[in-house]
Amino acid sequence: MKERVLITGAAGFLGSHLCDRFTKEGFHVIGMDNLITGSMNNIAHLMPLEHFEFHHHDISKFVHVSGKLDYILHFASPASPIDYLKIPIQTLKVGSLGTHNLLGLARAKSARMLIASTSEVYGDPLVHPQTEEYYGNVNPIGPRGVYDEAKRFQEAITMAYHTYHKLETRIVRIFNTYGPRMRLNDGRVLPAFVGQALRGEDLTVFGDGSQTRSFCYVNDQVEGIFRLLMSDYALPVNIGNPDEITIAQFAEEIIKLTGTTQKVIYKPLPKDDPMQRQPNITKAKEILGWEPKVDRTEGLKMTYDFFKSLPEEKLYKKEHKSFKNYIS
Ligand code: UDP
Repeated sequence: MKERVLITGAAGFLGSHLCDRFTKEGFHVIGMDNLITGSMNNIAHLMPLEHFEFHHHDISKFVHVSGKLDYILHFASPASPIDYLKIPIQTLKVGSLGTHNLLGLARAKSARMLIASTSEVYGDPLVHPQTEEYYGNVNPIGPRGVYDEAKRFQEAITMAYHTYHKLETRIVRIFNTYGPRMRLNDGRVLPAFVGQALRGEDLTVFGDGSQTRSFCYVNDQVEGIFRLLMSDYALPVNIGNPDEITIAQFAEEIIKLTGTTQKVIYKPLPKDDPMQRQPNITKAKEILGWEPKVDRTEGLKMTYDFFKSLPEEKLYKKEHKSFKNYIS
């Protein structure tokens, strides 16, 4: 009998790529999503498969899955600052109540559970690059607090189940990841810049553009997550690409990639926007034998091809009104 895996957030960006990977690896995949930020378009190609099933469910409420479960991957959560402003309570609930429900399910099924944590647990970091030992610099009541603190609570309760109930758990701290199926209007920097280039608008750099990020291509991220799940390491592991770049340089790269004739314009820096971010991936290298393989030029090209292939009306879907609050 095939091994059975439950993937929450299955219709989202990372969740859908994980569903692809696990179906390819020969698992029976149960995808779950409440479709608040996810889209069925991301998993439509999997629906006809005999070994894929989809459950439309909000995991903040009791989660029932019949039959055995070998693994649970918890990837349900809004994951962009715009989404946190739009749906702050759901963001807190899915990371806290949702995680609690899934840990209970994992115990009942004797399943191994991997949770998607984030570089946001480091907040606006005072240690650079960020190692797993760094405790972080997080504002609990700022605009990102609903996400950051939910994810920090998620790590705490997962470790508690690990030590108290002896549950097999894994914690991945995901750094900025990009690739096909990102939402064009979620406010994240890559879809924002590419969308602006495709619509013939200027590219909006927040602040002076000197803040840094390090972008990891989705296939590399999925490989790291897969290896971590199959490892026997229960403490958090950073998965990301250490190739760091300023947001101003990133805008220039997008201008070159898209060939847009528009220019860069500057907008106010959102509150608590981290000034620098780069993963230290020594642990992932040593424990998982993992490091990223796709460089940014190649990864951006594949991502741009995806955005270009979207129907034109998607390009003009209005951003949420909270976007204005985000940058003013
Ligand atoms: N950013 C920007 N212009 C935009 C959207 C984002 O300059 O139109 C900046 C944002 O202020 C941040 C960086 O790009 O410094 C990455 O933002 P994103 O929301 O993608 O991710 P996060 O801040 O969570 O890493």
